[in-house]
Amino acid sequence: MDTLYELHRQAVLAHPSSQPFWEAAGQGRLLLPRCDACGRRHWYPRAFCPLCQVGPVQWVPASGRARVHACTSLLRDPARAVMAFVELEEGPLMLTHLVGRNLTDWRIGAPLQVSFRALGTGLHLPVFEAAAQAPAAQREPGSSA
Ligand SMILES: [Zn+2]
Repeated sequence: MDTLYELHRQAVLAHPSSQPFWEAAGQGRLLLPRCDACGRRHWYPRAFCPLCQVGPVQWVPASGRARVHACTSLLRDPARAVMAFVELEEGPLMLTHLVGRNLTDWRIGAPLQVSFRALGTGLHLPVFEAAAQAPAAQREPGSSA
């Protein structure tokens, strides 16, 4: 994962507009870009809204909840790095890592929650792990909370 981490570090240096995202990540909070014109959130960050082509765009808090959209491993050891597209609760797909399980133990649609991993550069990278419990909309009728 070191190569991917280095790419993230370089991305921050190249795009200082992403600084609020990385500051929030260092505090354990996930932010997403939201368009002021259409109100929709998107990923990856851009200077304008990719959905309505207008903007402006600002950083807003995300729930941190997601589901596995697709996953794979690019390394010989599938426990080391599981790459995934996750579908955020707010809608966008995010390319990220899944942690805490081997590749073959993940299922499409599995509920996730964001977590953060220190990069050793002072930055914290959002990754996703299995959710402690399913989101409220997915619970069985009559269940509590
Ligand atoms: Zn928009």
